[in-house]
Amino acid sequence: MDQASSKLSPPSAPREFGFFVNGKSIPAGDRDIFERASPGHGVPVTRIPKCTPADLDAAVAAARAAFDDRRWSGLNGQARAAVLLKAGALIRERAEEIAYFETLENGKPISQARAEVGGCADMFEYASGLARSLHGDSFNNLGDGLFGIVTREPVGVVGLITPWNFPFLILCERVPYILASGCTIVAKPSEVTSATTLILAEILTEAGLPDGCMNVVTGSGSTIGQGLIEHVDVDMLSFTGSTAVGRRVVEAAGRTNFKKLGLELGGKNPQIVFADADLEDAADGVAFGIGFNTGQCCVSGSRLIVERSVADKFAQMVQDKFAKVRVGDPLDEATQVGAITTDAQNTTIMSYIEKGQAEGARLICGGEQLDMGRGQYIAPALFGDVTRDMAIAREEIFGPVLTIMPFDSVEEAIAIANDTVYGLAASVWTKNIDKALTVTRRVQAGRFWVNTTLAGGPELPLGGFKQSGWGREAGKYGVEEYTQIKSVHIEIGKRTPWIE
Ligand code: NDP
Repeated sequence: MDQASSKLSPPSAPREFGFFVNGKSIPAGDRDIFERASPGHGVPVTRIPKCTPADLDAAVAAARAAFDDRRWSGLNGQARAAVLLKAGALIRERAEEIAYFETLENGKPISQARAEVGGCADMFEYASGLARSLHGDSFNNLGDGLFGIVTREPVGVVGLITPWNFPFLILCERVPYILASGCTIVAKPSEVTSATTLILAEILTEAGLPDGCMNVVTGSGSTIGQGLIEHVDVDMLSFTGSTAVGRRVVEAAGRTNFKKLGLELGGKNPQIVFADADLEDAADGVAFGIGFNTGQCCVSGSRLIVERSVADKFAQMVQDKFAKVRVGDPLDEATQVGAITTDAQNTTIMSYIEKGQAEGARLICGGEQLDMGRGQYIAPALFGDVTRDMAIAREEIFGPVLTIMPFDSVEEAIAIANDTVYGLAASVWTKNIDKALTVTRRVQAGRFWVNTTLAGGPELPLGGFKQSGWGREAGKYGVEEYTQIKSVHIEIGKRTPWIE
């Protein structure tokens, strides 16, 4: 395992942030403060206010007023697009600062954070076009007396709860699309990774977004997050995170105002490798699919399903890849796998590694805590002799833990792949077009990769089948998600009377 040396270093003192309401950053004042320590270094890097319920109410009221007086939704698409384009340009200007805080709070490698920030600017640029092209439909076939128009209208105030694994990327897969639709936002980032969401709010104001259209409340999920999902002045809630909290979001919507929901939840995503695949490509893709973001990724390819005739050889190839991956200081440009983001997640991953062995699976390599002097790191783990009923094969671990299961036929590969409550993503590796298409059609997943993995951009939507969630983000679907449809029936000429 290469362990790279650091170039950038953590700040000498943590940066203070305010929360963001009505176009202004509001300092913590006498509120409690959450001090975030970098998971890669164990030193304090940011200080974030813990908002109160009154702060949440103020943020929702600001978003409500901004929506109701049409200061944003009443602008034409060209004007909205101009703000989104400018925001994209400002993200590019501040890319290094955003990537630095993303890496400090999350623990991901700085090279990866930089690439993600570039992708986020691209999301804004793409969504700016959607602000102009969003449209409805018309029906000119209803007879001479009637004309029908279907319009799309913004849903209203959107509550946006985002997790800690991709704080800026997941935010930017949603915010530009929400704004393109004409909605206003109250965002609640994970308490451990709030900095880059607060930076985005500043950027949007500088880009010309009217006050009140983007608000950010900070604090814990159980207080501020719970308050947001229950808030009756929030018209839609977009939640990304665990299935357990997703369930609470659904319950809260049912208990309060039946707000519209978008949910992106967990995954236990299959990587199906056929014997005829380019095995070198596949081994590299499989290692990337579970090592990227230390496997703390809803679309991580965590279940490797390999044709039996090449299973042992392929396991060795993946093991060889793991041995070469550079785990280390997230601030080092050479690092490929960084730190585990939270103590709780570190404990969860290590407990699954123990559980896998206790259940009778064979730990082929990795799985140990790596000592880098500071921070928390886990060597990517590979498990063989895994059966479908084991917890490590069924539950989302959200860490660098890969299980291998062999198959003997296309049917069996599909059956193993679908043997999960989740349906977020899947990959298939084969040079046979029939196998590729059959598997792509029959495996239940919202996102599919053929001979690659984790590829994507703003054009292609994301979201899950089964218990992986509701709705889609990104692409033209991403902006439509934040609209509601109105049917307009227009009489032409004199109406046929009901009473003569
Ligand atoms: P959570 O679902 O708890 O956190 C996701 C977001 O929800 C965070 O912003 C969190 O805030 C917030 N939140 C937590 N509780 C509530 C609540 N009662 N009401 C409203 N919002 C709430 O995920 P964890 O951080 O606990 O991670 C646990 C597991 O979830 C992981 O091991 C992984 O399996 C899965 N996960 C999946 C993700 C995905 O992308 N699909 C992303 C993250 C986790 P805060 O962090 O401030 O408490």
